[in-house]
Formats: sequence, C-alpha cells, structure tokens
Amino acid sequence: MYVSELGEQWHAARVEPAFAHLDSASAGRSSDAVIEAITAHLWRESERGSYVAADELSDEIASDRRDLASLVGHTADEIAFRESARASLRALLTHWSLPVASTVWVAKNEFGPNLVEFERRGYAVRVMPDGDIYGHVDTDALENMLQFEQPDFIHICHIGSMSGVVQPVTRIVEIAHQVGVPVVVDMAQSVGHVPTVTGADIIYGTSRKWLTGPRGVGFVGVRRDALRHVEIDSSEAFIAGRLGLGVAVSEVHATGQQRVFRELAKVGQATRERLHGIASWEVLEPIDEPSAIVTLAPPPGWQPSDVAAARDKLLGLGILVTAADSWRAPLAGEGSVLRLSPHLDLRRDDLDRVADALRTMGY
Ligand SMILES: *Cc1c(COP(=O)(O)O)cnc(C)c1O
Repeated sequence: MYVSELGEQWHAARVEPAFAHLDSASAGRSSDAVIEAITAHLWRESERGSYVAADELSDEIASDRRDLASLVGHTADEIAFRESARASLRALLTHWSLPVASTVWVAKNEFGPNLVEFERRGYAVRVMPDGDIYGHVDTDALENMLQFEQPDFIHICHIGSMSGVVQPVTRIVEIAHQVGVPVVVDMAQSVGHVPTVTGADIIYGTSRKWLTGPRGVGFVGVRRDALRHVEIDSSEAFIAGRLGLGVAVSEVHATGQQRVFRELAKVGQATRERLHGIASWEVLEPIDEPSAIVTLAPPPGWQPSDVAAARDKLLGLGILVTAADSWRAPLAGEGSVLRLSPHLDLRRDDLDRVADALRTMGY
C-alpha cells in the first residue's frame, strides 16, 4: 500500500530498489527514462562525435532549459549549469562583484558548507531571527530589522539538509525587495519537492535529489536585472546528464508539479504521524510541514556515533536513511539526527519496518 496515489506510477517507472530507499535528500532514484536518455546520448556521442551530437540535440537542450527555468521561476536565458549546487554557489560568488566586506543574512537552517564559502570570502554572516522552535524565519521581525539595516544580500536555504522545515521564501523575498536587498535561494532540497517560484533574484540547485535526475548536474538562475551579465556556465559539460535532468523535469511537469508537491507533503506527514513518539525518538518538524524530509532526534544521551550506528543497523535491515551530523546545519545546534526522505513510492509497510526498528533501538 503506497501512501501516495502517485506511488504506483512512480515506482513502476524505476528499477526495483534493493532496499526501502528513504534517502531522496541525498540522491533520488532516477527513472528508467532518465537513465535511457543519458545512455542514448553517450552512444550518440561515440557515434557522431560529442560536439556534433550536442548540436543535433540543440532544440531539445533548449526546451529542457525552458522546462527547468519555469519550475524555478526564471527564464531559460537566465539558467546556467555547473556540476553541483555548491559549484553553482562558488561560481556565483566568484562572478558577483560584491563589496569586499559584504554582509549576508542567513537562517538557522543554513547549510554548513555554504557558511564555509561565505567565511572563506570574509563575509560577515548574521542569523535572521526565527519565530518558533522549528526554526522558521520570523518574517515580521525580519521586516523590522531591515528598516534599520540592510545586508548586501540574504541567502536562504529553502529547505536545509538537516530538517524538513520549509522557509517562507516568497514572503522573505517580498520583504527584502521593499528595501532593495537581493535574495539568493539554495534550492538544493526544494526543487522538485515544494513550489519554487518565489520571485528570488538568484537561485541554485541540483539535479540528483528530489528531481531524481543524475548526479553531476547543478544549475543556477540569475535574474537579468539582478546582476550585470556574468558567465557562470562551465565550458565543459555533462550534456548526457543535462538531457537526463531534462527528462526528469519533464516527468514532474507531465504529472503536474503542484500534484507532485502535494503528494510529497502527504508522504512527509504520513511519515511523521507514523514515527512520532516511537520509543524516545522525537520528530523535529511540525507534523504537517509540507515537505517529505523527516528528521528524528535520538533518545536523550545518544552520541553522534550512536545515531550513525542506528543508521547502519537500519541499512542492515534493508532501510536506507541518513545519519545527519551537525556540520550540515551548524547554526541549528549540535546533535545528530536520523533523516528520512522518502519519495512518492513510500509504502505503509516501509514505515512499519522503520517504526519496529526504532522501537528495538529506543533505549
Ligand atoms: C545537498 C545540498 C547542497 C549541495 O548540493 P551539491 O549538489 O552536493 O553541491 C547544498 N545545500 C543544501 C541545503 C543541500 O542539501
């Protein structure tokens, strides 16, 4: 029994997984059609020469770019590709002529490696206030702060790597634009997962997580009026991978993006409802947070190594999840959590198996 009405279709489009794959936040499972698009292009490259093969598919490459752009609220000519989300952020910060001592405001869920990029460049980082125990940005407090002081830009993880909390990005963008502050959104965990048309000036993300495209493809969208034109595209490119991503995006559009987002929210909610209060594990998001990332804090006294051992034990039982350590969101605290990130093919009995396993590991 699938949790989502899209479960059967999504599952049937893919190879049978070797275990319950509850780890889309690390890398989602690609469909057969995505894999076929990639391999078909690799054959074509060998037959015709890679540059001829790419030229012959220029129409498809262009329409893939439009499809991806529409998902993230940009135009096709505003999209550039890199090999990962992080490479996209690096390229952006390298080409953006920001003041030497720039100030950036981030939220509590900021991804640790992004903070490293900011620190490396000497930016002053400040944390925006959160309005609840979950770490959602308090947009009223933010609006107030921005009356007195404006950073060079706001950088926000739409969804972080260590929590299923969805930040109110559309509202943050509205508020920031009232005072002329540009907003950069890390969509690595949100694209293909929740609505991502937000009005943000700059966005970037990756193919391999919720979109279930291949690894090695990242993208950035820079609104034309946000920056003078910068050349972010890398000259060398994994064209087959971009074509695979194109198929993955077209699958989301074919199902209907709003429907995909709604069903993933349902998957997240069902997971939280099922696992809430099992032994002494604690679900860390609101039960109805509209995302499919679910994090569980371990029983009191557990060390990061214990959480890693729990993850290994789950894998031994045929259940793939992540043990997420605090480097992923260093501003949010110190503990490690178990992160479950099921996609649309989550089954009720996957959750029963996780629940049983957690119960035996509770104390
Ligand atoms: C995975 C992730 C990234 C990095 O993506 P890569 O493609 O591996 O560089 C950035 N931000 C968040 C929130 C992530 O979860």
